[in-house]
Amino acid sequence: MIDRYSRQTIFSSIGEEGQRRLGNSCVVIIGCGALGAIIATSLVRAGVGKVRIIDRDFIEYHNLQRQVLFDEEDIKDELPKAIAAERHLRKVNSSVEIEGIVADVNYTNIERLVTGANLILDGLDNLETRFLINDASLKHKIPWVYGGAISSYGMTMNIIPRETPCFRCLQASPISRGIALTCDTAGVISPAPFIIGSLQTTEAMKILVGAGEINRDLIMIDVWKDEFTRLKIGHRTDCPACRGEYEFLEARFGIRTASLCGQNAVQVLNPESGEISLKTLATHLEPLGEVSYNKFMLRFRVDSYEMVIFPDGRAIVKNTDDESLARGLYAKYIGM
Ligand SMILES: [Zn+2]
Repeated sequence: MIDRYSRQTIFSSIGEEGQRRLGNSCVVIIGCGALGAIIATSLVRAGVGKVRIIDRDFIEYHNLQRQVLFDEEDIKDELPKAIAAERHLRKVNSSVEIEGIVADVNYTNIERLVTGANLILDGLDNLETRFLINDASLKHKIPWVYGGAISSYGMTMNIIPRETPCFRCLQASPISRGIALTCDTAGVISPAPFIIGSLQTTEAMKILVGAGEINRDLIMIDVWKDEFTRLKIGHRTDCPACRGEYEFLEARFGIRTASLCGQNAVQVLNPESGEISLKTLATHLEPLGEVSYNKFMLRFRVDSYEMVIFPDGRAIVKNTDDESLARGLYAKYIGM
């Protein structure tokens, strides 16, 4: 089996000892879209011993443009991303223990899902779950590699508990962000997540083999504008997470959903959204479905669903009583 990794062990910063460390490591990848797919395929090929892949979504045609682990067969088979990823990657490297888990990661399950991990990798498309990863990481002293990509740009940073600044040092508060852009409203071209996912993978390898030279800055890249930026991030003295207050794990913030009895609808409450401009939201959503709004609410029809969104960030998702689906639609079209 050593021969499989020969090109990696010849690379002196990894070597045979580094390869053994990779083989004895367990990583958890949260989110398996474009970023997660690049990270998962690279780390399974690199021989990381255990790879757990968690994702809540199914595969759609518009994913195939950038999510390299999936194909048209997976869509015909209606496979969730985590399951399709597991099936494809088992064929790539049967010596790796690969576990695909279909789940919405939230404060009730994240600590269980990261149990035993040496490292957490962020393949997410929403901020709320990143704050949750940050809490779980600091609480359990598991490093994580933040990564995000949208449009033609992306960013990444390593968070090593008790060493580097954390994600809340970087992004102080989730409050008053208004509308967050998402890949569904701003689009994304594949090189942005590919390059960010590749940087995350490199940092993962460095952390797992115990290399001293890990990156301690925020790296930002715009592939379309050829802009490469490195920013020093400092510890924030008033950072609750660094002080051991895990507000997201304790669910003091965050999206709440409630199925509205007998109405075939789910209410989504987002205390972090702050006041949102329905006019701005309408311009984001108009290319994607049917939109009408007044100053009190915005009505958006897409596929077989209808969403009614209020200026305080609250939404009602009609034609479903599935809370996790409603939460997903909210994340997709309004952002969190
Ligand atoms: Zn912090």
